[in-house]
Amino acid sequence: MITLKVTPLEGELGLRYHVESRSDPEHPNLVDLAARFGWGECVCKDWQCNIWPAIRDETAPRFTKTTTCDHVSAAAKYFFLHALDGVIELHNQQET
Ligand SMILES: [Zn+2]
Repeated sequence: MITLKVTPLEGELGLRYHVESRSDPEHPNLVDLAARFGWGECVCKDWQCNIWPAIRDETAPRFTKTTTCDHVSAAAKYFFLHALDGVIELHNQQET
């Protein structure tokens, strides 16, 4: 599995991220996980050329290789892990 650097945009709710671009490391891709009704959106060519046409069919499954670019996938993983940490912390506080 490839690990891309994910950086949340400061001052936001944690739904938009800069995600490392392997082809252009100096210019990360902007990812918005809430865009397209939760399908996510990215500025990369893969998303624009392949993913967006695939998810126009709203019955396509979310977060598969054909409906999510590597950048949206990396941002979603980042979001999930931080949300999980928050839920675990709340759970632990309730037990004490
Ligand atoms: Zn992308």
